[in-house]
Amino acid sequence: MTEFFVSKFGGSSLATSKQYKKVKEIVNKNENIKVVVPSAPGKRDEKDHKITDLLYMCHQLSSHGLKFDDIFKMIAERFFEIRDNLSIDVDLEKILDEIKTNIENNRSIDYCASRGEHLNGILLAKYLGFEFIDAAEVIFFNEMNEVDEKKTIEELQNKIKLGDKKRYVVPGFYGSFKSEIKTFSRGGSDITGSVIANAIDAKIYENWTDVSGFLVADPKIVENPKEIEHITYKELRELSYMGAKVLHEEAIFPVKNKGIPIHIKNTNRPYDKGTLIVPDTWNFSKENLITGIAGKKGFTVITVEKTLMNSDKSFLRKLVSVFETNDISIEHMPSGIDSISIIVSDIDLNGKLSKIIEEIRIYLNPDNIISSSNMALVAVVGRGMIRTKGISAKVFTALSDAGVNIRMISQGSSELNIIIGLENSDFETAIRAIYKSFYN
Ligand code: ADP
Ligand code: ASP
Ligand code: MG
Repeated sequence: MTEFFVSKFGGSSLATSKQYKKVKEIVNKNENIKVVVPSAPGKRDEKDHKITDLLYMCHQLSSHGLKFDDIFKMIAERFFEIRDNLSIDVDLEKILDEIKTNIENNRSIDYCASRGEHLNGILLAKYLGFEFIDAAEVIFFNEMNEVDEKKTIEELQNKIKLGDKKRYVVPGFYGSFKSEIKTFSRGGSDITGSVIANAIDAKIYENWTDVSGFLVADPKIVENPKEIEHITYKELRELSYMGAKVLHEEAIFPVKNKGIPIHIKNTNRPYDKGTLIVPDTWNFSKENLITGIAGKKGFTVITVEKTLMNSDKSFLRKLVSVFETNDISIEHMPSGIDSISIIVSDIDLNGKLSKIIEEIRIYLNPDNIISSSNMALVAVVGRGMIRTKGISAKVFTALSDAGVNIRMISQGSSELNIIIGLENSDFETAIRAIYKSFYN
């Protein structure tokens, strides 16, 4: 029985005709790749724009009654470069005209944003000689904005014929709900690939990008960080939730139940090993002490102090309800005997800090409330941490030697991570110091 691959190519992997050629070479070398999932063309260099960002701008201008011709022209030129340099036989002018008219006629923001993947899918399918399947006809959302799994799997299995040699291109990032286009959140082509891998029982879900796998730390902060060979779904989720955005944080859910590994690979260096993201139950012969370091800036910590807090059985419930009724997610909640800290992101808090503090005062009558803003969180993640003594000591010594003031510590009950709160301004120093203490 053939074992199929689903291969998703990110924006930088399909940014130019030159990148398209690399993709063709990769796909031609592996006949088991049954479905290719493209993103929209991304940046060609640091200063460039992603097609998706330009499409969002077109929508915004048009919805204010403003002209967007110049930006639309930039989009069109990107696609012409690909089509003309590769002599792909597609009537782009006609499709682009239609899209432009639709944007002028105020089609939804999701429709506009999705056209980058749509066009790239049409061009890529023709270039590879594969069949194009419009994602709107196979990826379905429900009222809750989640993937309607049953309908989606049924339709994907209907359209993708596993019994013959046919191969397919399905654009990433969007699907449909009641015949209108819907998109995932940004970076969502990763989720499309994962949904399709699950539907066709793929052996591997390949995710081709511009780095040779998941690195121990963000390469924009640490110079030349080591590559991670294996990482479990759980570790990956911790790291991507905390800002290591190589893969969309929700991309593991569709493949998790069947345990389909995700292989992160570099389109520009296809022979590099890459990172294999595997089920949590896998055993490894060799373990690293830590798997990765990630972090995010922009948090506020609200610490509530009250003597004998624990004897009031409703204390926690009331405290949490203040955040719930204000529609704010709690990121972490480390506690002591007579104090508890609530950590929330500034984006979520959105100017409601004084209202929240007032409500806590009214409901809980605490001895003291202290809030500090401009905090960053850094997560040190690793399945090897459970078995190894002294990891936290090593992290804290590294931070103190680097002069970083630790404001909060929280260790997850899974013992898979240590989360450290510190000043925004210490963020990069902290990540470099921790990296250095484990990898130098
Ligand atoms: P694509 O367009 O292929 O989906 P993304 O830009 O979404 O690619 O993700 C790849 C980028 O993730 C890399 O270029 C890198 O800058 C960034 N990144 C952040 N943290 C890490 C990390 N820990 N390891 C590798 N890359 C990282
Ligand atoms: N093109 C979309 C974005 O820029 C989706 C993706 O790249 O996965 O967010
Ligand atoms: Mg991405």
